[in-house]
Amino acid sequence: MEQQKTVMITGASSGVGLNAARALADQGWHVVMACRDLGKAERAAQAIAMPAGSYSLLPLDLASLASVRQAVADFRALGRSLEALVCNAAVYYPLEKQPLYSTDGYEISVATNHLGHFLLANLLLPDLQASPAADKRLVILGTVTANPKELGGKIPIPAPPDLGNLQGFEAGFKAPIAMINGKQFKPGKAYKDSKLCNVLTMRELHRRYHQSTGLIFSSLYPGCVADTPLFRHHFKAFQTIFPWFQKNITGGYVTQKLAGERVAAAVADPALAESGIYWSWGNRQQPGRRSFAQEISNEAQDDAKARKLWDLSAKLVGLDHPPSQPLPATAASLED
Ligand code: NAP
Repeated sequence: MEQQKTVMITGASSGVGLNAARALADQGWHVVMACRDLGKAERAAQAIAMPAGSYSLLPLDLASLASVRQAVADFRALGRSLEALVCNAAVYYPLEKQPLYSTDGYEISVATNHLGHFLLANLLLPDLQASPAADKRLVILGTVTANPKELGGKIPIPAPPDLGNLQGFEAGFKAPIAMINGKQFKPGKAYKDSKLCNVLTMRELHRRYHQSTGLIFSSLYPGCVADTPLFRHHFKAFQTIFPWFQKNITGGYVTQKLAGERVAAAVADPALAESGIYWSWGNRQQPGRRSFAQEISNEAQDDAKARKLWDLSAKLVGLDHPPSQPLPATAASLED
């Protein structure tokens, strides 16, 4: 009998991540729900009727690099193999006038959505590679607002994503710096920038490690899941109008359940076993929509920027020094 597969999902205590956990548990996976509030995660798992024994809870605060390292150690202590990692967690603070900073002193949306996941993904590559399973995947959630080539990404409010020449990262990314391009703080743009980093990271993982390890790296836009708690820091009126607008005007609205099933497809569907792809189901939803490889923005396609982002991110999370757990030999030999 084939061994049960294990997937780690970050931010599985609500929304897309929680629904992906349920979809994968239904397919027989064991789900490691990596969350910052384990009480909330347990209540959410029970509320969505995760089958008993189908999941484990793992403490993880992506806004703390020490917590990310501890989570990797705690995962290894579970004694499970790892067949998939889903980098799903995110924060969105569109109304903050002043930047919020993580434990390590980095702007909170870039710290949580990009840097924490960057470190986690790097530290778990050896675990993915160690599993004897043939099909192993690392999936990073993208979003439409970070992709001006998609309909939903064309609204330049407050500004389109733009990492510039990563001057803010180059200068150490500590206060008063809050933007990757080193320019003026724009909270909504900080989120878009972080999601652009997610796609650039996926592509750079693919370039570095796909051929040597066989791991499949992909990203996806699951659709506009306009009623998740992601929008909890937005105006109350926005939280009512936005889902209504997406349901009734744009037709872009996707239920949390369907979004979770799309993430599960990126993890487990043989039809999506292709590396280096950004999957989408389109901006306007119709029943039975099929996934396709979505064209990404010019900036997300910029290989030189992906390499520079990798190098500077490695420095910011402390991976330019010998990491506590070495990268796989085959992968390490590909390092630039
Ligand atoms: P959500 O319901 O707010 O879920 C976000 C998850 O991230 C929560 O479990 C949250 O934990 C967790 N999280 C936040 N900060 C964390 C930290 N420091 N450490 C660990 N976990 C942390 O939002 P969602 O809409 O499902 O978003 C999930 C993903 O889908 C994100 O990557 C988002 O960019 C992407 N996405 C969403 C949409 C959409 O329309 N909603 C569209 C496209 C893409 P708590 O429960 O403790 O807050």
